[in-house]
Amino acid sequence: IAAGEVVERPASVVKEMLENSLDAGASRIEVDVESGGLKTIRIRDNGHGIGKDDLSLALSRHATSKIYILDDLEAVATLGFRGEALASVSSVSRLTLTSNSEDTAQGWVAKTEGQEMATDIAPAPHPQGTTVEVRDLFFNTPARRKFLRTEKTEFNRIEDVVKRLALANFDVGFELRHNQRTIHSLRTGSSEVEKNRRVAQICGPAFMENALTVDIERHGLRLWGWVALPTFSRSQADLQHFYVNGRAIKDKLVSHAVKQAYSDVLYHGRHPAFVLYLEIDPATVDVNVHPTKHEVRFRDGRTVHNFIYSSLHHALADVR
Ligand code: ADP
Ligand code: MG
Repeated sequence: IAAGEVVERPASVVKEMLENSLDAGASRIEVDVESGGLKTIRIRDNGHGIGKDDLSLALSRHATSKIYILDDLEAVATLGFRGEALASVSSVSRLTLTSNSEDTAQGWVAKTEGQEMATDIAPAPHPQGTTVEVRDLFFNTPARRKFLRTEKTEFNRIEDVVKRLALANFDVGFELRHNQRTIHSLRTGSSEVEKNRRVAQICGPAFMENALTVDIERHGLRLWGWVALPTFSRSQADLQHFYVNGRAIKDKLVSHAVKQAYSDVLYHGRHPAFVLYLEIDPATVDVNVHPTKHEVRFRDGRTVHNFIYSSLHHALADVR
């Protein structure tokens, strides 16, 4: 599937760059945004970095370091794999990619401006890891710039992206700043207490106070996370996070299973709140069915549906 134009707005840039940082094994990621991301988006990580010789490759279309053999494509374990994000973002912005891979002492920088591809690569001091700076998004595509909303709205979408990824990566520290002001500072932590703290920071303390923890394993499937009691329902479906093998998804089959589990206990028109993680053999899910990778296809959809439904149904029934 051709991802084509995955870059719709500043938040899509942040999503792609954060996914790259996570794929690079970063344990700390800083996101600096100016003017809702319209002016600058800077993402700095301490991941494995990119070597000098790979810098211009990283920026070129359809180049990825994440698929070595065909079998990798059958069981994608990284968030990215199509090699399009950096190329797409660089074609509609002024982009600076600075990186230092662990086996070199010195960092390197590549710059692009719109369609012009990186030509020269210059030395630049940088600790191990990568910084991507995206300035003047859509400067050369005014039609798309017109579709952007206010700085506030665009920033809110960026914040949502950061939250969504932070909920899937408790072992990574995240900093989000807007116009030099710290909006989120999320420390790493793998203990129960630390996880609870992060969920409360992201979903609000009221959610945590009203949530049950679930952790159910059956037929090689595991579902764990937090589900709000029916009394903490929402008027909008705005507090719903579902991850499949660490990838945030919005999927009809999953939504249907969750909704059905709540159907006896929730008033019509109310929406459940949840943060749930499904772990499943990656060879039985296809993540390559949608350009933004929000949807997935399960090889055995019926089993997955039944598992989610019955796990949650029982958890909620137990409380009643
Ligand atoms: P994809 O993630 O699908 O491979 P991208 O265009 O997002 O494609 O990135 C291209 C390549 O650039 C990646 O495969 C990776 O090798 C390298 N890369 C991008 N961002 C980073 C980063 N933050 N740290 C290390 N390598 C990176
Ligand atoms: Mg990527």
